[in-house]
Amino acid sequence: MRAFPIFLDLREKRAIVVGGGVAAARRAELLLKAGARVTVFARELGDEFFALRRKLDWHHVPRDPGPADFAGAPLAFVATDDDGLATRAREAAKIAGALINVADRPDLCDFIMPSIVDRSPLVIAVSTGGASPILGRMLRARLESLIPAAYGRLADLMRAFRARVAEAIPSPMMRRRFWEAALEGPIAEQALAGDEAAAGERLAAAIEAWSGSRASPQGEVYLVGAGPGDPDLVTFRALRLMQKADVVLYDRLTDEAVLNLVRREAERIYVGKRPEDHELPQEEISALLVKLAKNGKRVLRLKGGDPFVFGRGGEEIETLAEHGVPFQVCPGVTAAIGASAYAGIPLTHRDHAQSCIFVTGHGKDGRLDLDWTGLIQPRQTVAIYMGLRNLEALMNEFVARGATAELPAAIVDNATRAGQRVVVGTLGTLAAQAREAGLKGPAVVIVGTVVKLRDKLDWRAPTEAERRAASPQGSSAAVATSENGGE
Ligand code: SAH
Repeated sequence: MRAFPIFLDLREKRAIVVGGGVAAARRAELLLKAGARVTVFARELGDEFFALRRKLDWHHVPRDPGPADFAGAPLAFVATDDDGLATRAREAAKIAGALINVADRPDLCDFIMPSIVDRSPLVIAVSTGGASPILGRMLRARLESLIPAAYGRLADLMRAFRARVAEAIPSPMMRRRFWEAALEGPIAEQALAGDEAAAGERLAAAIEAWSGSRASPQGEVYLVGAGPGDPDLVTFRALRLMQKADVVLYDRLTDEAVLNLVRREAERIYVGKRPEDHELPQEEISALLVKLAKNGKRVLRLKGGDPFVFGRGGEEIETLAEHGVPFQVCPGVTAAIGASAYAGIPLTHRDHAQSCIFVTGHGKDGRLDLDWTGLIQPRQTVAIYMGLRNLEALMNEFVARGATAELPAAIVDNATRAGQRVVVGTLGTLAAQAREAGLKGPAVVIVGTVVKLRDKLDWRAPTEAERRAASPQGSSAAVATSENGGE
């Protein structure tokens, strides 16, 4: 984080503005809105300042400021074309210990002015850390259109009742539930529609109904598919549930970028799972879900891909059902679907395959007990999960059971993530290629003539990992992983 975001209470505090032009007037106006006592240092004041004349809490000093002028002012803004003045003002502010912002001179700034969406008391500030003020402004415009003006009124209403709710509902968890119910239901709708009186009455009645309720809140489990890694592939519903959670259980397949979408205050429990290191056995994960939910928590069980596709999601919620714990299931983009799209390999295609079959290359005790006759069918694509470790045996078995060694096959490693790598070959070559490329997984293997379509349909620019692998310093086989199918 390049700049640390906070909101300052400037009421009754001194603030300094240096400059007499439009930008300086805007700064002064904003400071006055926040209740600061503003002193403007400028040899001359432009017209824009006359609009501020009516406001009381500012005065004008017609000279350049010195260190003593910044005393007792936590903040100072400089907006002037005079570089010498800007530098001197900065020096003076430094000596006095004030934080300073110099317009258009990020190198001289202690803090950044964000783009602001003002629905007071609701205020949204956007910063790009100084990287691109234009991008900040574009985002601001989007937020402006997204957040109705009435949200300010809604926030006012909530504030008016805040102390009463805190008194009536002492448990923080119950209180959060109360506010969520209020904000998601008819109370908020009435307030947003402009009928604050009715909304206020309803809110008062709701406080009455909730107050003193000793009952602990009802816990619940959300079994959520987070997709294969790219956070853009998380569904809206998943995002909503992620934002409601009190605690989240995640594992190795959960991408950090996705985990960052979970409510920040939620407790995080790692129940890591790799084929080799079962950090928590399945039964213990299930037992933990039950225990947390029974304690009234909203438990988010985050799963890579889709929870019901090779995810043991079914097993986990069976236990929940047995214990009468309420649960919801939210689908996710499963790895094969993500890999297919991001590698440009359609799983079905009129000229190539009418069906696609998803199998696991892992097997319950490491053996490959697959229905080979069913797998080796013309005009069919096979997507293999958990197949990387057994890749050689798998590919050999395809050929031993009658498939041609020339049948195209691809491996999509870290599909949809920044580190995605695609290796394209045939049943006969893929295992050696994957070994040489040093793929670590997670990876999906796609077998079938659809793989050839990647020549035309690979739309995604090569990832950093692919570029590195394709560079002369990279391993030799990795050349085959470069753009456009790498034939
Ligand atoms: N429920 C998950 C699958 C869990 S099994 C889903 O629907 O995707 C774990 C296997 O999923 C891995 O061995 C790998 O084959 C596959 N997988 C998960 N994430 C992947 C990714 N980002 N790229 C490629 N394969 C992935």
